[in-house]
Amino acid sequence: MIGLGIDMKLLSVIVPCYNEEENVPYFYEELMKQEAALLERDILIELIYIDDGSKDGTVAEIKNLREKDDRVHMVSFSRNFGKEAGIYAGLKKANGDLIVLMDADLQDPPSLLPTMVAAVLDEGYDSVATRRETRKGEPVIRSFFARRFYRLINRISGTEIVDGARDYRLMTRAVVDAILSMPEYNRFTKGIFGWVGFKTKWLSYENIERTKGVTKWNFWKLFLYALDGILAFSTAPLAFVSVIGLIFCLLAFVLIVFIIVRTVVFGDPTSGWPSLVCIISLISGVQLLCLGIVGQYMSKMYMEVKNRPIYLTKEEF
Ligand code: UDP
Ligand code: MG
Repeated sequence: MIGLGIDMKLLSVIVPCYNEEENVPYFYEELMKQEAALLERDILIELIYIDDGSKDGTVAEIKNLREKDDRVHMVSFSRNFGKEAGIYAGLKKANGDLIVLMDADLQDPPSLLPTMVAAVLDEGYDSVATRRETRKGEPVIRSFFARRFYRLINRISGTEIVDGARDYRLMTRAVVDAILSMPEYNRFTKGIFGWVGFKTKWLSYENIERTKGVTKWNFWKLFLYALDGILAFSTAPLAFVSVIGLIFCLLAFVLIVFIIVRTVVFGDPTSGWPSLVCIISLISGVQLLCLGIVGQYMSKMYMEVKNRPIYLTKEEF
């Protein structure tokens, strides 16, 4: 790798931050505790903070660190673009032979790094991913819906999306280049990791609570995120729409035959408009639902076609 000794490798640590002023220096300290262990494996660190349009002192804290240590880098966005955009920016900025994604809140323990690196260097894996063992400590309703979501999406999508998988992931340059070759605007990273493939080792660990700052997720955001995932990695809802259409056509056909036969045989004038009103409301409801599903895909297509940049940089070093 550039300018390093023959056997030295560079590890890029990417940390997306949104209002994490307390965590930026804390993360730095905790990460550097692994420096010696990594040096033993001839690995140097570069640390890339992505400031996702923070409104607090995050940028100032990153600049402070930079003054002490020029291995610290930053890409600062012009506004909040979301974690997925942060990940993409970090992967683009990274120079490393190995690249790892970590949260600023230390829910991704840096102490796992030497194990992850060993899996790539000694066991020949292309990437090492992590998942939480349990959903302990999570609100009951939230884990219920999370489980349903993973079951559903794995049934209707050809891409494997692992339940409880975190974004804490170490990858080789080849994997990162593959991810960067996917320039889509709607980035559902959990699906993208599965889609690119490569040999992946899974490590599990107990969920660690965030100690400083607050989580950026609430139930509604998670729900929209789940919908994004389904739209980005499955077209099953579209097939579902076609099947419903087909069922209703068949049903209508059977009803028509039934009514004609009844009228011819019994001379019964078709009576009863309440049933008619019910049928019309039902069918128009189903039509609107199906139109809505098609509309969801169209709105995603609209955003892709506009081809807007995934993020805008305000400052970078
Ligand atoms: N994050 C971000 N942009 C956002 C929201 C979150 O860069 O719009 C970062 C955040 O600073 C943290 C990581 O993504 O480093 C995970 O966020 P959080 O801890 O809120 O999520 P959780 O761990 O609760 O899933
Ligand atoms: Mg967190």
